[in-house]
Amino acid sequence: MIKISFVFGTRPEFIKINEIVNKFKNNKKFNITVLSSNQQRKLIDKYSNNYFIDKNLKLNNFKNDSIFISKLLHKLNSIYKKDSIDYLFIQGDTNTAYATSLFGYFKKIPVIHLEAGLRTFDVYNPFPEEFFRQSISKMAKIHLAQNMSSKKNLENEGIRKNIFVIGNPGIDHFINNLKKIKNKKTIRKSILITMHRRESLNSNLEVFSNNLKLFLNKNPEYSVNWPLHSNPNILDQINLSFKSFKGDQITFLNPLSYLEFLKLLISSEFIITDSGGVQEEAAYLGKPLLIARDKTERIDIIKLKIGKIINGDGSKLEQKINYFTKNKISITNTHKWRYNQGLGKSSKKVYEVLNKYLPILEKE
Ligand code: UDP
Repeated sequence: MIKISFVFGTRPEFIKINEIVNKFKNNKKFNITVLSSNQQRKLIDKYSNNYFIDKNLKLNNFKNDSIFISKLLHKLNSIYKKDSIDYLFIQGDTNTAYATSLFGYFKKIPVIHLEAGLRTFDVYNPFPEEFFRQSISKMAKIHLAQNMSSKKNLENEGIRKNIFVIGNPGIDHFINNLKKIKNKKTIRKSILITMHRRESLNSNLEVFSNNLKLFLNKNPEYSVNWPLHSNPNILDQINLSFKSFKGDQITFLNPLSYLEFLKLLISSEFIITDSGGVQEEAAYLGKPLLIARDKTERIDIIKLKIGKIINGDGSKLEQKINYFTKNKISITNTHKWRYNQGLGKSSKKVYEVLNKYLPILEKE
């Protein structure tokens, strides 16, 4: 039996691995364990109930990345003795993913990396996620890439072996949940905002808030729903920035359950976000997407003109809303994006790839 340990800790990691874990669990060829670092305890409590997690490492952290990483390394060291595990499975670009792959590297436990090869090529943008992605690719043995652009990025970095294009398992989860939503009407002039990136915390989020206030004062027919992230630093900045805002056009919400969030995503006309997952989901729906970052690693969204960068400080917010009110998103391009995400079959593909190749790699 091949022993694989999935290690995750944040909301997007859970969303992107859970359909895969379900495919592997209860399969006689594999012995699967799921570990949560608890990196985003407040957010994932809403999602991953006990059946999913075999062991919770109870490391809650928002404040200090290096302490979190060293604590997780320490914990993994005490859990995994030599030969107690064959593969570590990680997703994306988080502290949890980085620390786990570093642990795998030290112990020579091969790492399977989901969402490999996304790049902005700027290690400060997003920070520290881009650096984590690049480093994880150096340490991982198996690279599960969303699409051909990611595969090309990996090849350009000299990685030749074990790259598999499998689509986007987060979109599998998204499609399965979309089916549960009955009312799919869009409310005109309604904007959904999510912001959580650390690089927003220099003056960017403050300037973004000022640009948003200016836009809303000029366009009182618009309304905003803003589900907040649990990161206390972001919350403090938002409280400060909107203390004096007089209009009633913005509704701040607590972090929403996945289904509640999807309902809001569907009913909104415009999506403003600095999130990776929300960019993918908005693009899937063909909603006008305004990316509140200076750079995105989801470059296909830009190439297909289904999303536009408005910068981390929102300096292009009004210009890009105007662009989307005048220009319809091409349905062909939206279909291209959907197709590249694997049409809901990515988790199955991950299972098929690993089922086929892991026994061969084991013998290498
Ligand atoms: N999400 C959610 N509730 C919310 C906000 C977002 O369930 O209130 C989901 C969203 O659908 C997406 C994921 O969380 O799948 C994105 O997570 P986040 O923005 O925290 O991280 P990122 O994708 O940037 O790594």
